[in-house]
Amino acid sequence: MSDILNNDQNYVWHPFTHLKYANLPIELVKGEGAFFIDADGNKLLDSISSWWVNLHGHCHPYISEKVSEQLFQLEHAIFSSFTHAPAVNLAKRLIGHLPKNQSKIFYSDNGSTSVEVALKMALQYWHNKGESKKKFIAFENAYHGDTFGGMSVGARNVFNNAFDNLLFDVIHIPIPTNENIDQIKETLQLWFTNHNDIAGFIFEPLVQGAAGMVMYDAKHLDELISLCNKNNIITIADEVMTGFGRTGKFFANDYLIHKADIICLSKGLTGGYMPMGVTSCSQFNYDSCVSDDKTKTFFHGHSYTANPTSCSAALASLDLMERDETWNQISLISDLHLQFLEKHKEHPQIIDIRCIGTILALELKTSEHTHYLNNVSENIAKFFLNHNIIVRPLGNILYFIPPYCITQKELENVYHVTELFLNSRN
Ligand code: PMP
Repeated sequence: MSDILNNDQNYVWHPFTHLKYANLPIELVKGEGAFFIDADGNKLLDSISSWWVNLHGHCHPYISEKVSEQLFQLEHAIFSSFTHAPAVNLAKRLIGHLPKNQSKIFYSDNGSTSVEVALKMALQYWHNKGESKKKFIAFENAYHGDTFGGMSVGARNVFNNAFDNLLFDVIHIPIPTNENIDQIKETLQLWFTNHNDIAGFIFEPLVQGAAGMVMYDAKHLDELISLCNKNNIITIADEVMTGFGRTGKFFANDYLIHKADIICLSKGLTGGYMPMGVTSCSQFNYDSCVSDDKTKTFFHGHSYTANPTSCSAALASLDLMERDETWNQISLISDLHLQFLEKHKEHPQIIDIRCIGTILALELKTSEHTHYLNNVSENIAKFFLNHNIIVRPLGNILYFIPPYCITQKELENVYHVTELFLNSRN
């Protein structure tokens, strides 16, 4: 075993890792476009953009250069009482891309904190108005991060069993379908009429990522947001995964007529370079904290808030997002995914195959039911790794969410290996 792996085993605790049975991690030494190079010199295709963050490929020369310039200008600064161009310019440009109802940007460190900030903004709004509204509505099977607020609005499952009785109460509703939408609306309306305690409704718009890339219709979400608007319920879109082109539009909110009041961003925000979260909000959320009364301040902040280096990565990533070639790539990936879906939708090894934008998911038939702990995931990951492709199935859900720089040939190889895998199970 190499020194790095030896020391890794001696000193490091990896996330989401079954400590007893996990294989040794693979040591990566370099990133290059859609690929990693590992310590043995293997070139591994990152078909999942490293937990969905890496938008433009690894070590993109343009972003690397911008980050490097920033590091020699202003690497970090306290963000209370002080400001700097990278944070201000990024806020202005994000507001330019976000739905028109968004007017202020609050910075934090990752997806979970962007959600935590959103929940607290909604609660602070009602608190400052002197109304006791503290309950949230969320979807069953949702995932909104690993902090206590994020876990509370997330599904109650294996991810948070150990903390269950410490999580606050949430009204969990099923994701909407043609069959249940009327029932959901009726239930919610009854609740709104008979109780006066709902602060907000949080949702992953159109795709529930960690639930297994579960997809649902924009038109149903629109109806739920509209119902919330009519009843004065603050809506929060967690676009941590869906943001920055992943669904084929800049934001998943762009598929909606009714826009969320608060939007959470992270992952692709910095192109996968630096940790950063953003919570954008409507003017009314911000205004609720503008007061002569100091106790109405939003007392939230992180030491690394608006880190200039992270901002510079996000600005560079936005530059790339504004190029036609990036959108051509997004269209190409979407088209190729759709072709693959059409070809395989009747495959006997597939229960369901779904796709939106650059996200393709295959729900595989196994002897166990569809579940995150389905043991097939290790076999799938091993099979793909033997073909130099990195995947990280969610149980029996195999999915691809590649960086936008991937070429047609590289993506076709991913499909080819997927076919080999499916046929190996016949
Ligand atoms: N919200 C969503 C929709 C996510 O997919 C994730 C991460 N998978 C998070 C929040 C949490 O983000 P982070 O891991 O950066 O804390």
